[in-house]
Amino acid sequence: MIPFLDLGAAYRELRTEIDAAIHRVLDSGWYILGPEVEAFEADWAAYCEADHAVGVANGLDALILALRALDIGPGDEVIVPSNTYIATWLAVTAVGARPVPVEPDPATHNIEPARIAAAISPATRAILPVHLYGQPADLDPILALARQHGLAVIEDAAQAHGARYKGRRIGAHGDVVCWSFYPGKNLGALGDGGAVTTNRADLADRIRVLRNYGSRVKYVNEVQGVNSRLDPIQAAVLRAKLPHLDAWTDRRRAIAAAYAKGLRDTGLILPHLPDWAEPAWHLYVLRAPDRDGLQKRLTDAGVGTLIHYPIPPHMQAAYADLGLAPDALPLARDLAGEVLSLPMGPQLPLADAARVIDAVRAAA
Ligand SMILES: *Cc1c(COP(=O)(O)O)cnc(C)c1O
Repeated sequence: MIPFLDLGAAYRELRTEIDAAIHRVLDSGWYILGPEVEAFEADWAAYCEADHAVGVANGLDALILALRALDIGPGDEVIVPSNTYIATWLAVTAVGARPVPVEPDPATHNIEPARIAAAISPATRAILPVHLYGQPADLDPILALARQHGLAVIEDAAQAHGARYKGRRIGAHGDVVCWSFYPGKNLGALGDGGAVTTNRADLADRIRVLRNYGSRVKYVNEVQGVNSRLDPIQAAVLRAKLPHLDAWTDRRRAIAAAYAKGLRDTGLILPHLPDWAEPAWHLYVLRAPDRDGLQKRLTDAGVGTLIHYPIPPHMQAAYADLGLAPDALPLARDLAGEVLSLPMGPQLPLADAARVIDAVRAAA
């Protein structure tokens, strides 16, 4: 059996470093924020080619705090992809704003910049592109539109650790970039974790205050903040893993290259790579008209796959109140019926990837 992802394998590869990092925190006697979180924030900002990083509790909170730092709330609209994980939309509704979905480029599955202008209204405050599957969204036209209309750009980079757009790391192209360190992400903690990166000192400062009860000085609360702090044990784990991230991305890239070569004549639609994209290969997502049949045959052959995502946000009961019919966003609806993610991860042996290729060729 080849699992979709073996989370324990990443821990086993770095057991000595990770155990030492955890014990360093246990011995320090410092269990909330403090030096370990600050050291990771500095490491993560540098890695992302950003001026500032602020650690928070998870990726959803990173998005919510980014929106709050920009004073986005009730009466405001935020442009979001129709094809994304629901967290992107949940952040917008959590602050009381309205998500305005824009359909994807069918080739990349990422938000289609040319469709955004038509979605801008006088209430629009921000554009929230997602670097889905670790494939960078086409940021330059999005940033140009945002400048033209006076909008903020918040990037959902929860799947894009280490990805580059036009040679520059994802991390500070837009106003603020939101990260998740959920265990299955490319840089994953051993529990929940998140961060924002930005070149805007004002936003970094506001998020730093918001994440800690709205307080800069203990028991002095300048705004109504929340408790959304990155745990120092998780920060230490992330610091132990970060030096390996680029090598892990290289291994993901090798698997993606093997899949691309091995599956090119199968009739399946494989990931499309614009020439400016250096993806993080969080997921390898192909498209098959008979997706459910293909997935079943692969399961029978011992190959684990997942669907990212089976139900788009606008078709979830959670968003029934928006009154969006399934065919209001037909591209998102159709992708949900046809996408399939193959096993992918830095600890997946290339020999197993070769077996996945054989199984897909037999099943396609
Ligand atoms: C994982 C993910 C999130 C949320 O991250 P959590 O840490 O689970 O809250 C947000 N957006 C996208 C695209 C994600 O994949």
